[in-house]
Amino acid sequence: MHAPILDSHGRTASYMRISVTDRCNLRCTYCAGEGMEFIPHPKILRYEEILDIIALAEGFGVEKVRFTGGEPFVRLGFADFMIAAANRFPNVDMCVTTNGTLIGEHIEHLAKSGVRRMNISLDTMNRKKYEQITGRDKFDIVRENIDRCLDAGMTVKVNSVAMRGVNDDELPEFLEYAASREIDFRFIEFMPVGTETGWKDDLVWTADDILTEAQQLADLRPSVNGPKHGHGPARMYDIVNGKGRLGLISSYSNHFCATCNRLRITSDGFLRTCLFSDKVYKLRPALRNEKLGLDFVERIIRSAMRSKPIGYDLLRKMSANHGHDVCHTRMASIGG
Ligand code: SAM
Repeated sequence: MHAPILDSHGRTASYMRISVTDRCNLRCTYCAGEGMEFIPHPKILRYEEILDIIALAEGFGVEKVRFTGGEPFVRLGFADFMIAAANRFPNVDMCVTTNGTLIGEHIEHLAKSGVRRMNISLDTMNRKKYEQITGRDKFDIVRENIDRCLDAGMTVKVNSVAMRGVNDDELPEFLEYAASREIDFRFIEFMPVGTETGWKDDLVWTADDILTEAQQLADLRPSVNGPKHGHGPARMYDIVNGKGRLGLISSYSNHFCATCNRLRITSDGFLRTCLFSDKVYKLRPALRNEKLGLDFVERIIRSAMRSKPIGYDLLRKMSANHGHDVCHTRMASIGG
């Protein structure tokens, strides 16, 4: 174990999000959109290189790794890779965020092999609207796969990007869905990441507004029983007489920069210390150069952490200077 990494604001790095691919089979308006150009395969980190990064990260105090994308399950062999990674690093909490469209054939195998948690994105309760948002007709399969994950004994969190004028008319249906299943249904505020997502201030359906509106529809009580693995920055509410819970993530209106413990690795091997900054640090050349080795990669990460910004300050400054485009890179390339 090396010394834990601390940034200049006293924050540690205990959570790493690793994008295993920038490719996705959906084209969500708020994330990738149509017309994405994908990174050529030789530039994408190989699975062994990702394992090297996790080994390094565990050494400097990373306790949780989330695989993301693009869509992780479009990458060949991802399910087996995840099982292998979870077995190799039993002390690292290993999880995945997926759109849930391609997991069907893997659910049983993952559950039996110890992958017992799934975060699945679903932004609407309406099939037509799902197609409008994602560009693909996959609503039924996602709903079915959520239920299959629950049947297989997995803990399921459903994530929904909260957008005014897009899905804010569906709160009764969302609450009904959350009440009918043992899921955590979490709203994430629409974030200004990527220049082509059409983000505007008035499209943000804030966590506070959602709570006020939801309290008029259901009896909600702040949740005292956190799940075993925590729920990060989400404020959780029990739905009285319901099976599931409602979660609110104020990723825009009240960003959790002061306690941000995240590092992000893009699929082509760049480190990002802040979602709201386009500043990246190249790890891939060092990872592929035996002479430099992992010590050198660690040095890059430690040095990058020293200048990890307070993203919310950045967000304010940049939106004052350049309209609303803060981080120009699409979320699909970063991994959320
Ligand atoms: N394909 C996977 C999925 O759909 O969950 C993983 C990648 S996706 C980039 C990771 C998360 O980022 C998803 O929960 C998605 O809803 C969220 N996301 C993408 N763009 C966003 C935005 N502009 N604001 C808030 N959340 C966003």
